[in-house]
Amino acid sequence: MESESLLTNIRVVLVEPLYSGNIGSVCRAMANMGLSDLTLVNPKQIRDEARWMACHASDILENRTVCGSLAEAVGDCGAVMGTSARDGLYRRHALSPREWAPRALQSAQTGKVALVFGREDSGLNNEELALCTQIVRIPTTTAYRSLNLAQAVMVFCYEIFVAADLYEPPREKSEEAPAALRERMVALWRAMLLNVGFMEPEKADHMMFGLRRIFSRGAWTEDDVSILMGVARQVEWAVENRGEETLTKLETERNNERIPAQP
Ligand code: SAH
Repeated sequence: MESESLLTNIRVVLVEPLYSGNIGSVCRAMANMGLSDLTLVNPKQIRDEARWMACHASDILENRTVCGSLAEAVGDCGAVMGTSARDGLYRRHALSPREWAPRALQSAQTGKVALVFGREDSGLNNEELALCTQIVRIPTTTAYRSLNLAQAVMVFCYEIFVAADLYEPPREKSEEAPAALRERMVALWRAMLLNVGFMEPEKADHMMFGLRRIFSRGAWTEDDVSILMGVARQVEWAVENRGEETLTKLETERNNERIPAQP
């Protein structure tokens, strides 16, 4: 199954969320990371703030499912993953979100997966935790373990998005330069640096190793190489022509001084 459709099999379940702003922020986090199935168990009244915080993710808010119990919300799900900030007796075997994400994707191959979040004030109760096949906890400092509900949802959404390998990073416009082109560039720089007296011929090999090391800290694209070749050519040209231009100018000035202007 395609990774994108795997994400449609992952359901975010919020049990008795108290604050509309959190519900809206959860919608936004889901939309940012490619999830769309939101189920609320007995939400308090949903105020305008939910829409404000959802921003461009209001379709997720509009299409939410509302259930009367967690059992109903996860009834059609295979894996039911419960999230908890606490590490009580039944939560010692908790996975981290990073460990959880590939497992959730694997379960999503064959059916619906629920990711269950608790109330802002008291989390999930034992009865609700008992319905979960796995507990997941976001690592935090021991001083303050409990995240804001929507921020906790975001951490999970992000991990599942990364694990699904859906992100396409922006690509360089030009291809990586082939070795032959890179070597032409290095040869041009070598000639130019000798020509301007930057290095003595006997030190040139050593110096060129140093320059290669600096240049090769990143991958060279064809565009990069052509800029660097342009620099070397322009320096050579300037040394040859500007030198003459300057000499001619100096000579003319000197001659003008020697030959006083005729009255
Ligand atoms: N005082 C509550 C905290 C609730 S925070 C308690 O002790 O359980 C609201 C919800 O956000 C939690 O039920 C859980 O679903 C999620 N959450 C917050 N911090 C988390 C963490 N460190 N790991 C996993 N989920 C977390």
